[in-house]
Amino acid sequence: MILSTHAIVGAAIASFLPSHPTIAFVLGFGSHFVLDAIPHWDYAISSASVNPKIGAPVTFDRALLRDVVVIGSDGLLGILGALLLFASSDGLWSILLGAFGAMLPDPLHTIHAHFPHEPLRSLQRFHRWIHTDKRIKNDIILGVGSQIALVAVMVGLTMVAHYGVLDQALAK
Ligand SMILES: [Zn+2]
Repeated sequence: MILSTHAIVGAAIASFLPSHPTIAFVLGFGSHFVLDAIPHWDYAISSASVNPKIGAPVTFDRALLRDVVVIGSDGLLGILGALLLFASSDGLWSILLGAFGAMLPDPLHTIHAHFPHEPLRSLQRFHRWIHTDKRIKNDIILGVGSQIALVAVMVGLTMVAHYGVLDQALAK
């Protein structure tokens, strides 16, 4: 899935652990693989050096620039979204590390393509194994829409859990 989706889900989990940033990081990291197992859409990666399936030597060309802009804005949007939705003064580190941990496996995938050593090798074998084969390719509206829907549901459930909307409804 795209980095923003990973970051916001990681931050949602982290919001339950405001004073445990390390656990938030670990759970965020773990959540990446759960989300990747769900059929989803991903944007294309242009540069052969960024694409983890190729791992070509880095060449500073248009394709690399495009990837830096697209992936960079995706990651930045994820961190911003995570902060806007969940940051509270006491849990800031948890939110940041939860979001960062949730995005981390994807850059590690690219790093592994250039440095194929342990422990990255085992991690990427697992990443590839758990990643769904079902990709939403042609329908960009369904692809983007389904990730927005997933984020909305996760954020909604988190807010419900935090603000006790459910408790209030049940008490009536
Ligand atoms: Zn992934």
